[in-house]
Amino acid sequence: METVKCLIVGGGPAGYTAAIYASRAGLSPVLYEGPEPGGQLTTTTLIENYPGFAEPVDPISLTGAMRQQALAMGADIRRGIVRGADLSKRPFVLSLEDGGEITGEALIIATGATAKYLGLPSEHKFRGMGVSACATCDGFFYRKKVVAVVGGGDTACEEATYLSGLASKVYMIVRRDVFRASQAMQKRVLENPKIEVLWNCNTQEVLGDASGVTGVRLRRNDGEVFDIAVDGFFLAIGHHPNSDLFREWVNVDENGYILTPGNSSHTNVKGVFAAGDVQDPRYRQAITAAASGCRAAIDAEKFLKEEA
Ligand code: NDP
Repeated sequence: METVKCLIVGGGPAGYTAAIYASRAGLSPVLYEGPEPGGQLTTTTLIENYPGFAEPVDPISLTGAMRQQALAMGADIRRGIVRGADLSKRPFVLSLEDGGEITGEALIIATGATAKYLGLPSEHKFRGMGVSACATCDGFFYRKKVVAVVGGGDTACEEATYLSGLASKVYMIVRRDVFRASQAMQKRVLENPKIEVLWNCNTQEVLGDASGVTGVRLRRNDGEVFDIAVDGFFLAIGHHPNSDLFREWVNVDENGYILTPGNSSHTNVKGVFAAGDVQDPRYRQAITAAASGCRAAIDAEKFLKEEA
């Protein structure tokens, strides 16, 4: 069976950055990109907040450049999908979709997180045309416009508050008559004159035309159906960290995010590191994911040196 020094799972900013650093450190990393090369970033339209780009950059170009850089440094990037893991002892074993297996002395998990969507066909249709799951990424495009945020948790409150600094009006669509968010976040939202909370409402359909989203059709729990005009529709109903494959071995929090205690990328399994959104419920930015990929590679290098 093929054995390598450093395995990386995940083809997003965290994984590619880990591959750049691990390659330069002489770890000859093998990276499996998984089903969505480029990661979650590729679901946004344009990126204006990644340092180093004065002009907006499209996500395919940005993640493509990261990938190219990792290849140029010598990383072995493979299209394969990892379907299983045995982290009970070193070298760690990964089982691949094609039936093969590979082992590694160190493993960096950078499998990201997936934003939850409502599952409406209209929501899918207007993705990237007014439907977004990241206010920090896309809010800038809604200056002085009207937007809606779905959800009543901390993320929804945080995103609505953030958007209120840009948009002329923000609706919050909350399916119950209470928020799930912390008291402090609720207070901030309820005291914000630009935010109107639509309680007891569920989204029936995202409305739009060739130019993108134009409104939302809502159904109140009492049965009333009504439309609101909006230019942007933001989902904030939670994320699913892609840690399922590894949960038998690594410690996760109550939402499934891999725990990396202290100021490091170390998991509870010696030699297994986590980077990016799979271990970050809070910041979830390309730049923070890239930074944590760097940290994971440095931690892996140090670990392998100490073990040698
Ligand atoms: P949460 O799971 O806490 O909240 C999800 C929200 O979306 C809930 O209001 C839920 O409604 C609603 N929702 C879920 N599914 C649907 C649906 N199909 N239709 C309509 N509404 C739906 O997720 P968050 O992302 O907000 O937070 C995740 C974790 O991260 C939490 O622990 C949170 O505290 C933490 N966090 C902390 C922050 C901070 O401290 N600053 C910032 C952001 C997140 P319902 O309540 O009815 O289930």
